[in-house]
Amino acid sequence: MKRYDVAVVGGGPAGLAVAITTTMRGLNTVVLERSSAPVDKACGEGLLSPGMAVLERLGVLPLLDAQGSYPFVGVRYVQEDGSTAEGLFPGRGALGVRRVALASALVSRARTVGVELRERTQVLSHRRSGDGMVLQTAEGPVEASMLVAADGLASPLRRAEGLEMEPVGPRRFGLRRHFQVAPWTPYVEIHFAPGVEAYVTPTGVKRVGVAFLWEDGAVEGRVSFDALLARFPRLAERFAGAAPDSQPRGAGPLARVARTRIADRFALVGDAAGYVDAITGEGMSLAFVCAESLGNLLPDALARGASQEVLLPYEACFQRVFRKYSWSTGALLMLARRPWLRRPVVRLLGKTPWLFERILHGIVA
Ligand SMILES: Cc1cc2nc3c(=O)[nH]c(=O)nc-3n(C[C@H](O)[C@H](O)[C@H](O)COP(=O)(O)OP(=O)(O)OC[C@H]3O[C@@H](n4cnc5c(N)ncnc54)[C@H](O)[C@@H]3O)c2cc1C
Repeated sequence: MKRYDVAVVGGGPAGLAVAITTTMRGLNTVVLERSSAPVDKACGEGLLSPGMAVLERLGVLPLLDAQGSYPFVGVRYVQEDGSTAEGLFPGRGALGVRRVALASALVSRARTVGVELRERTQVLSHRRSGDGMVLQTAEGPVEASMLVAADGLASPLRRAEGLEMEPVGPRRFGLRRHFQVAPWTPYVEIHFAPGVEAYVTPTGVKRVGVAFLWEDGAVEGRVSFDALLARFPRLAERFAGAAPDSQPRGAGPLARVARTRIADRFALVGDAAGYVDAITGEGMSLAFVCAESLGNLLPDALARGASQEVLLPYEACFQRVFRKYSWSTGALLMLARRPWLRRPVVRLLGKTPWLFERILHGIVA
């Protein structure tokens, strides 16, 4: 049986970014993905500059289809009474990118650099064997020296490794859909209503995506895209009569906690490594930054046995990046859950754009 250096489970953004990095650094890498490429997913689809920088270094950014992406310059908060706050991102801003377009670019780059991508291949279980890992799939076993679990929020591998922890706090969910509408603003808009937020992201010259985030119990009755949209009359008016460009797609619960990211010959990356919430739109950037860091240190780590101890620099890097994300996400969640506090804060930010931008620069830099 062929023995790979690295087997990556999950061909989402995190898994493909790790695989591109390790392959570019000379490791023989296979990605096992249960769906067919390009994989779609419920996502607000805003890619911030740290994520764009990684995609640039990996040679993915130039492959992004202009039909499937659209630049934006900052964030605009919109409240129930119409009051707004606008802040510009630092540098070149950010990119709204349709997930299938991003997946196509990542897959294309992965194949070009020599990643072996096995689609429609679900990993059913794994075990350690001598100095490697054996993964069981319906198509037979796969052997590798290192297993990278990039298997998303629910991460069966995180659970199987005994790294799963119970998250604290309310359970939050997401639901998104796209419409064939020309973007009306160079900002990503975040509309607030009690218990629900709507993320409006331009992802093409004639495509705008709307992603709702809400807390368990905040929405009475059956949750549907139309019922959530009806809570935002300004948005409902914008999309009235517009042709849908995708079917509604949901995800959640969002918060996930792992005890640690590493074990012998094993690492968690992307949402599988831990997730707080989508409220700041940082998930993909966090995934890309950590994926690149893991991919860069794996050649040396494998040469030294890839024990948990040897993989510690990856855990340290994750902690550093995650702490900042967790802080900004926690702060914004705290405001979103307290409309009485959020309303005057957003009004203040609206009057002091320099302060809003300073906060945004702190988050995005
Ligand atoms: C509503 C919502 C809005 C969001 N908005 C934003 C945003 O605006 N900006 C942003 O940056 N992030 C956003 N995020 C977060 C972002 O979507 C995630 O952080 C990102 O998708 C993480 O990528 P990943 O590769 O870790 O996981 P995923 O994209 O979930 O990929 C995991 C892959 O693993 C595969 N898989 C799972 N189990 C197996 C198995 N056993 N065998 C084989 N394959 C398997 C799955 O099929 C999947 O393709 C949002 C998320 C949600 C839910």
